[in-house]
Amino acid sequence: FFESSNMAQRVAPDGGNKKTSRVRVAVRLRPYMSKQDKKDEGPCVRGLDSQNLEIINWRNATETVKYHFDVFHGEQTTQQEVFLSSVKPILPHILNGQNASVFAYGPTGAGKTHTMLGTSEQPGVIPRAVREVFNLVKAKDEDEGWDYSIGMSYLEIYNEKVLDLLSPGSQDLPIREDKDKNILIPGLTHTPISSFSEFDKHFVPASLNRTTASTKLNQRSSRSHAILLIKVVRTQRAFPHRQQTGKLYLVDLAGSEDNRRTGNQGIRLKESGAINLSLFTLSKVVDSLNSGTAVRVPYRDSKLTRLLQDSLGGSAHSVMITNIAPEYKYYFDTFSALNFAAKSKLIVNKPFIRETVAVPVLPVKRSREDHEAGGSGT
Ligand code: ADP
Ligand code: MG
Repeated sequence: FFESSNMAQRVAPDGGNKKTSRVRVAVRLRPYMSKQDKKDEGPCVRGLDSQNLEIINWRNATETVKYHFDVFHGEQTTQQEVFLSSVKPILPHILNGQNASVFAYGPTGAGKTHTMLGTSEQPGVIPRAVREVFNLVKAKDEDEGWDYSIGMSYLEIYNEKVLDLLSPGSQDLPIREDKDKNILIPGLTHTPISSFSEFDKHFVPASLNRTTASTKLNQRSSRSHAILLIKVVRTQRAFPHRQQTGKLYLVDLAGSEDNRRTGNQGIRLKESGAINLSLFTLSKVVDSLNSGTAVRVPYRDSKLTRLLQDSLGGSAHSVMITNIAPEYKYYFDTFSALNFAAKSKLIVNKPFIRETVAVPVLPVKRSREDHEAGGSGT
C-alpha cells in the first residue's frame, strides 16, 4: 500500500498557504519496551536530531528512510518537554478569542493516551494545558477590562456518532454551524469550571467511564476519538460589553492502525475501511491544509473534521503529535503514520543498527541440488 500513497512523496512548501494556517506536526517516539517485542529484535526506528528520524527500509534492510518533521521528540523526552515545546505556546491565543487544537495521532500502543492524559506521576498534555489556561487567566491584567469565564465539554466520536461523556447514556448529537461559521453541538453538556480541581472533578469520572466501557465494548477506546473542549469566554466590562470566545480542543484520536490488516474480531472486512472515516478524513484535511495547494478542505466528510472545522486550519492554531513505537511489530503502522506526518522523506543508503552476524561454517552434508544451485566453489 505504500506505492498508492501520494502522501509519501509530498514535500510541503515552507511557509504554507497564507489563508489557512498549517498544522504543526511533531512526532514522539516512545521508549522501546521489550515486553512488546517477543522476538527481541530491537528497535526499527531511531531519532537523529530534534527534527529527523530514520526507520529501516522494509524493502531493503541495508537502507533506511529518513523523515523530517517540525519537531521530533525522542524516547527520552519528558511530558514537560512535550508540553513546553508543542502545546504551551498556542494557549495564550484562546484568551484572545482564537481557537486551537492539539491531537495525538498514531497506532494503538504507541503512546497517545500517555501523551494526552499521562499518569499522576507523569501528567500529560491535558492536565498541564488546563492548569496553564487557569494560570493565564489569573495573570491577566485587571486594567485590560475583560472578565473571563472557563467551561468544559467532553465527548467521544465512535462510529460517526457524537456522544456526550459528561452525560452518559445520551444519544448521538448533531453538529451545527451558526451564521458566523462557529461550530456547535446543541444539547452537549457544557460545565463551567473555576479551578483545576473542579475540572478534575468532572473529567476523571468521565474518563473512567470511557475506559470501563472500552473493555466491555471490544477495544472501543482504540476506535473512538475522545475530545475535550475547553472554552474561554471573555466579556468586556465596559459598554458595549463585547464578548469573545476561544476554544481549545484536546483530542486523543482512535488508533491509526489498519483494521483490515490487524483483523479486529467481529468486524467484517468490507466495513472495516469505514470504521475510521473520521481518521481518514482528518489525514486528508491536514494534508490539504499543509500542502499549500488551493484544494477544497474536506471538513464535511466526517464528524471529527466537521466538529473541528473552526479550530483546525483557518486562523486556528493546531498541533498534531504523532506517536510512534519502536518495535518491529508496529513497523507498517509506524511507516504509514510517518508518511502522514512527514514534511519530507529521503532514502538513505546506509545500514541501520542491524549488525551482520558471522555464520559459522559447518561441515554440512549438502544435497546435489545445493551444489548445483549454489556455485559457491566447494
Ligand atoms: P495508546 O493510547 O496510543 O494506545 P498508550 O498511551 O496507552 O498508547 O501507551 C501504551 C503503553 O506505553 C502504556 O503502557 C504507556 O504507559 C506506555 N508509554 C507510552 N508512551 C510512553 C513514554 N513516552 N514513556 C514511557 N511509557 C510510555
Ligand atoms: Mg489510548
